[in-house]
Amino acid sequence: MFEPTRLVLARARRGLTKRQLSERSGLSIRTLTALEQGPDPAPTDRTVEALSSSLGFPREFFSGEEMEALPAEAATFRALTRLSARERDAALAAGRLALALSEWIESRFELPQVDIPQLASEAPEAAAEAVRARWGMGLGPIPNLVHLLEAHGVRVFSLATDCSEVDAFSLWRDGKPFVFLNTNKSGERSRMDAAHELGHLVLHPEYDRSVSRQLERDAALFASAFLMPQASLIGRHGMYPTLDELVHGKREWSVSLAAYVQRLYTAGLITEWHHRSLFIELSKRGYRSGEPDGIERERSQILEQVFGYLRREGVTRSDVARALALSKQDLDALVFGLVFSSVDGAAERPGRAQRGHIRVVGAQ
Ligand SMILES: [Zn+2]
Repeated sequence: MFEPTRLVLARARRGLTKRQLSERSGLSIRTLTALEQGPDPAPTDRTVEALSSSLGFPREFFSGEEMEALPAEAATFRALTRLSARERDAALAAGRLALALSEWIESRFELPQVDIPQLASEAPEAAAEAVRARWGMGLGPIPNLVHLLEAHGVRVFSLATDCSEVDAFSLWRDGKPFVFLNTNKSGERSRMDAAHELGHLVLHPEYDRSVSRQLERDAALFASAFLMPQASLIGRHGMYPTLDELVHGKREWSVSLAAYVQRLYTAGLITEWHHRSLFIELSKRGYRSGEPDGIERERSQILEQVFGYLRREGVTRSDVARALALSKQDLDALVFGLVFSSVDGAAERPGRAQRGHIRVVGAQ
C-alpha cells in the first residue's frame, strides 16, 4: 500500500518543491499532489519507481506505516531568520527518520532510563546547578557531554550534513528526549550545542516551543553555566586575564575560547570593558572562526555500542538501512560523526570500556 505521508516526508527531506520533483521524476504536479493527499488511486509500479529514483529512497520506503513529518513547533531552532522553511523542513524530516532508527534500535536494545529534570520555573543558572546536583556531577569539567546525555536517556543523532544552517535542535517524543547535532561543526561548538539543547529539554518542555528570543537566551545561558559552573571559576584568573592565560582555561573545560571569555563575563568575573577588549583580540587573532587547540569531536557511546554489537552479529549498516527502507547514505547521515566509521567493512575501533549502558533485548 502506497503511503502518502512518506512521499511528503521524502520530498521534504530532499528540500524539493513539487515543481522540482515533477521536473526530476517526469510526473505531473497534479499527480504528485494527488499522491501526497492520497489515498487513491494507487500509483503504478512505474510511478513508484520514478519517485524512488528521483528522491533517492528505496521503493519499499513508500509503503509501510504512516510517517507524519514532525511539526515545526515541536523543535526549537536557533538562527531561524537565516533558515528557510525548506531547510527547516529538511532538518525536521531527517529528525523523523532518526526517530524511526531510534525505534528500531529500541526494539532490540534496552537504553538508559530517561532522567531529565523538568525545571521550567527555574532561572537558567539555577537550573544548570540543579541538573548537576541531581546527576551527582560535582563542579568539574564534563569529560564527554554526549555520553552524559545518553546516560540520562537522551537519544543523540546527527543532522544531515546538508543542513549547515541548522546548529542543532531537540524535541520530546513519546516521553523521550531527542537531540540532533550538526556534526560538521567544531568539537567545541557541537559540545556547546549539546548543552544548549539540554537547556531546552530542561527549561522548555512544552510541546509548542514556538521560537522566542528569550527561550534562546535562556538555553544559551543554561549551556554555559552547565559546562562551566560559576563556583569553579571564581579565583582562577585575575581581574584582567590575557587571552593566552585563558587558552589554558578553555582547554580545561573543552569549550571555545570565545565561550570561555563569555562565561567569565556572565559569571561576573571580568568587567564589561575587559570582556569587550578580549573579544576584539579574539577576532584579530582569527579565533572566532578557527579554534586554537581544537578538541576532538564527542562521539555517541550508544550508537557505537549498538553498531558494534550488530557488526559482531554479522549485521551491517546496509542491513539496518534495508530494514528501515532507507538508503545507506540516509542512514549514515543520521550517525555521521557520532560513530567511528561510516563504511561497512572498515576496521572497527574498539570502544572504550564503559559501564554497561545498554542491554540487548531478547535473543537476536
Ligand atoms: Zn535553541
